[in-house]
Amino acid sequence: MSLEALNKQVRRDLSFLAFGGEDWVRRAHHPEGHVYDAVIIGGGQCGLGVAFGLLRERISNILVLDENVEGYEGPWVTYARMMTLRTVKQLISIDLGVPSLTFRSWWEAQFGVQSWKDIDKISRNDWMNYLRWYRKVLQLPVVNEVKVKLIEPTGDDVYRLHVEGAGASSQPLLARKVILATGIQGGGEWHVPSIISATLPRHLYAHTSEKIDFKALQGKEVAILGGGASAFDNANFALSEGVSSAHVFVRRTEIPRINPMRQMRVSGLIERFHVLSDADKYAVIDHYFKHQPPTNDTFERAASHSGFQLHLGAPWLDVQHEAGKAVITTPQCNFTFDFLIISTGLMTDHSLRPELKLFEPHIARWGDHYHAPPEIANHKLDAYPYLGPDFTFTCRDRKDSKLLHGLFVFNYSAIVSCGISASSLPGMKYGIPRLVSAVADQLFSDNREEILKNFYAYNEAEFVGLLGG
Ligand SMILES: Cc1cc2nc3c(=O)[nH]c(=O)nc-3n(C[C@H](O)[C@H](O)[C@H](O)COP(=O)(O)OP(=O)(O)OC[C@H]3O[C@@H](n4cnc5c(N)ncnc54)[C@H](O)[C@@H]3O)c2cc1C
Repeated sequence: MSLEALNKQVRRDLSFLAFGGEDWVRRAHHPEGHVYDAVIIGGGQCGLGVAFGLLRERISNILVLDENVEGYEGPWVTYARMMTLRTVKQLISIDLGVPSLTFRSWWEAQFGVQSWKDIDKISRNDWMNYLRWYRKVLQLPVVNEVKVKLIEPTGDDVYRLHVEGAGASSQPLLARKVILATGIQGGGEWHVPSIISATLPRHLYAHTSEKIDFKALQGKEVAILGGGASAFDNANFALSEGVSSAHVFVRRTEIPRINPMRQMRVSGLIERFHVLSDADKYAVIDHYFKHQPPTNDTFERAASHSGFQLHLGAPWLDVQHEAGKAVITTPQCNFTFDFLIISTGLMTDHSLRPELKLFEPHIARWGDHYHAPPEIANHKLDAYPYLGPDFTFTCRDRKDSKLLHGLFVFNYSAIVSCGISASSLPGMKYGIPRLVSAVADQLFSDNREEILKNFYAYNEAEFVGLLGG
């Protein structure tokens, strides 16, 4: 089968599923202009999958916005530096149960059945190409180069989205429902410890989420801080690009070995997480965060280079700038490097998100609702938003609930409340249908009165049979 034939197959499958019927949602009117039923912020895989899910529910007055140029959404071909996805190739994610929309169908259509058997994991470039195809074949309404700067409540059950960028209209956009599919950093921001950011000039370090000019680092000595998968991805990438050495510094004395995701996959914890109690949710995510090993392949690739060095039990106690280099103090000794790559992940805290500025004080956090036992209490987890099972924010104060009604969180910060449904490919299969259903339920409930009035008022005769006699 060719890609062209697969495109036909997708259209055929969707027509068999009666995809694209007339919308049922009542159009909202507003003096400022067109009101979308839903705007999805973020055109990565979550945003695309949610858009497809809403279209299947016959909610088509929607828009997806992404700040990046077309085809460069999410981490895959921008700042991710691993060779392949970390997830196994058999993953099922945003096809939403339509076999012709799976990665495997897309792959086999181009390279054949044997080739699928031959590949081990999916390369990140191939994954991005699949996402580009998915968007195109489904004709999803995505607008690129639009950054949402601020979400503002209008008081009329409609949000005003202030936008900027090459693809943005000069006027704000209006939406009844806003879905934050803003990715891994969407609930906060990437984190660089202050001992680095406060002392070093900017050209001596970069976070892994940033663009790094590896050509300029050829022949140089580089240090990487962090023991997660990205640290080893970056070590391997830097060494492949010609740095003379890459030293990875890990605070722990041992790298985690078990991978809780494996157990999640076979135990129902991915799909049924939302029915757990608060105590269980908190403890499960605490355990998951504590045990995140790098993948074997990325570690082995990095370690196979002669310039690779691993330092365990080696936190950075101090960082100084001396003679154009970075000097690092660890408990063992001092080191001098030409450049530092910071792989310390992110800080989840919605007060760091500009688009949520007007809502931030009203949004309840885990710390407002649940006090974990001292042995696992963790201020980082306490800062996550405390969401309803339907991915909605909850309010610190009941009187503010109208303010947040219509905002949905489908990014990484949903993890403590809703499990990995929005933060990892294996969760999306379960998370997207639940989110879509929640958005549709809310649109329906908001219009309940009018929908029921029309239902009772409907009096078109259908039965045309003659009465006997
Ligand atoms: C290096 C790396 C490797 C990873 N590897 C894997 C893996 O192998 N398997 C896996 O399951 N997960 C992996 N993840 C987790 C990964 O982030 C998620 O699986 C996936 O990207 C989530 O999809 P998403 O659509 O939520 O976010 P993204 O793909 O990040 O998409 C979100 C989009 O929203 C845009 N955006 C954010 N804010 C705004 C705004 N205000 N206005 C407009 N646009 C905005 C972003 O720029 C981005 O394009 C990886 C993450 C990283 C960082």
